[in-house]
Amino acid sequence: MGLESSLCTGATGREDWDYAHCLPYFKRLEKSLAHGDSEFRGNDGPQILERAPADHPLFQAFFSAAQQAGYSLTPDINGAQQEGFAPFERMISRGRRFSAARAYVHPVKSRRNLDVRYRVLVTKIDFEGTRATGVTYRGTNGAEHRVRAAEVILCGGAFNSPQVLQLSGVGDADQLKALDIAPVQHLPGVGANLEDHLAVQLQHACTQPISMLGTKSKLDWPRIGLQWLVGRRGDGATNLFEAGGFIRSTDEAQYPDVMVVLAPFARQFDPDKQVEGPGYLMCVDTLVAEGRGTVKIASTDPTAYPKIQFNYLESERDRRDWATALRIGRAILDQPAFREFDGGEVVPGPEIQTDEELVDWVARTGQTGLHPTSTCRMGDGEMAVVDPMSMRVHGIDGLRVVDGSVFPSCTNASTYSPVMMVAEKSADVILGNTTRASASILRRRLTSALRRLRRRPDLDGAHPVGGAAVRGGLLRPPGELLGTALAANASHHRERHGQDGPLDQQHDAELDDDDLDEAPGVHVLRGDQRHQTERHQQEQGGQQLAQRARRLLFLEYLVQKALARADENLCHDERDCGTEREHEHVTADVTVHGT
Ligand SMILES: Cc1cc2nc3c(=O)[nH]c(=O)nc-3n(C[C@H](O)[C@H](O)[C@H](O)COP(=O)(O)OP(=O)(O)OC[C@H]3O[C@@H](n4cnc5c(N)ncnc54)[C@H](O)[C@@H]3O)c2cc1C
Repeated sequence: MGLESSLCTGATGREDWDYAHCLPYFKRLEKSLAHGDSEFRGNDGPQILERAPADHPLFQAFFSAAQQAGYSLTPDINGAQQEGFAPFERMISRGRRFSAARAYVHPVKSRRNLDVRYRVLVTKIDFEGTRATGVTYRGTNGAEHRVRAAEVILCGGAFNSPQVLQLSGVGDADQLKALDIAPVQHLPGVGANLEDHLAVQLQHACTQPISMLGTKSKLDWPRIGLQWLVGRRGDGATNLFEAGGFIRSTDEAQYPDVMVVLAPFARQFDPDKQVEGPGYLMCVDTLVAEGRGTVKIASTDPTAYPKIQFNYLESERDRRDWATALRIGRAILDQPAFREFDGGEVVPGPEIQTDEELVDWVARTGQTGLHPTSTCRMGDGEMAVVDPMSMRVHGIDGLRVVDGSVFPSCTNASTYSPVMMVAEKSADVILGNTTRASASILRRRLTSALRRLRRRPDLDGAHPVGGAAVRGGLLRPPGELLGTALAANASHHRERHGQDGPLDQQHDAELDDDDLDEAPGVHVLRGDQRHQTERHQQEQGGQQLAQRARRLLFLEYLVQKALARADENLCHDERDCGTEREHEHVTADVTVHGT
């Protein structure tokens, strides 16, 4: 996920979902065989991750080409630095896909308070007034069953969660009435805000017979199957997309906004042309599109597909981004490192050159990147569906949503792990555990806030006063102090002024005299430093400098306050961030439904 992601940068407007609060759950969910037990990665979670070997010559050419094109390698795209190129990790263990069901459900499926029903379709959530009382589902023989429940947790995904909610009367009241569904709760955000990553493939012919052609020919399948059965190896033990990179398409981009993934084979993608014989392909996704789509039921029949409209390429910026992304992909594939393999671009083909032609081609051939999110987005306001603090559906009792549909916006990375993180964190929320922030991330963030503070010209002259306080031994080193103070300052300001917004912006909040006078601990600090302040005031003869010094005094007061709370509020170990994973806490029967 990288150090910060779009899910975790305060998009909910709540610090509880910032990266510092999300990281412990990313760590908790995984057992990363390559990177586990580090600041950013976990090594004892249920979800096993192995790093793809990426030792095929075409992957090696890809890494070299990326560097020749001016990009760097990164040790771990899921670690400190998402930007860069690396072998991917994958949910495969000993040659077998290691799904969420294998990781989480299989180990506990014999529990007496867990009843798993397969191949059933939940047709609606039952309500008494605005309280959810259970679900109705249809079995394989078509018979309807009802399950009563004190609480329902909906996890149908970005298409099916809004579908089930709408079928049950939760959604835009006018749309529901048009289908003769009695509204239970008017929530126009249900099925709105659909986001996804659009994806295309650039494909080249390969001059050497090294690409993984076998998977294309059914004649080869017995050999691949045997190889897998005997040694859990070979083409049957890989997902083929073993290497990729995350790129910032412009210097202004705050986070990577283009993903490229290489596979050492080519297959039909563009209906008009195809690589014959050996080839290789590069998947290109743009990651921060502006277009938002919808998921709307068109019928009261729960087996009918909802109408899904993505609105890809809707905005001028999205179209421009696509032309840029394709040029980036092409530039990498054109590097000398590929020369010994390159039989020429076949898809889209050299005749497609101008921005218009490129975007036209994307419009004709682009496919979903399989990362739909945000159709029951969490947050506040009219279009929000889920409360980020409880995962409850706004205005409804006994109903929560926990899946990709609650993302405030799509991540600038693939979505599986973020969904699992949301699930892990929601489990703590539902159990009533306090979720706490990662200490290491807060420290990193505070240090960088301090760096920004130091660059502020308006505080320059006031540093000696802060320095005096530090020398006086009252406080710890200023890097931690002032940074921590900024965080505390942010929450103080929110309390006082009702201001909201991402933490990043809050260091700019102005301190005023009232802040200073109201701060009780400031008297502790005032003694010597007031003296210093006054001396400075006389020496410099400036009201302004005194004001700056007073700001620093206040920051220092906040630092002390924040540090005093830090140890009890920060999470130094992810196992510590909520309480331990204790399934005994779940006293109600749990039923898992799946189609
Ligand atoms: C083919 C494919 C490949 C992907 N590859 C990657 C990848 O390589 N990396 C990555 O990070 N992400 C990948 N993704 C995306 C990732 O799998 C999803 O983001 C993630 O699974 C979403 O989780 P979810 O819980 O929101 O929804 P889902 O995983 O879709 O889970 C929803 C579940 O609810 C069930 N359900 C829905 N409606 C009903 C109903 N009415 N009654 C009963 N059951 C119901 C569904 O059957 C499903 O089991 C891929 C997705 C697809 C489809």
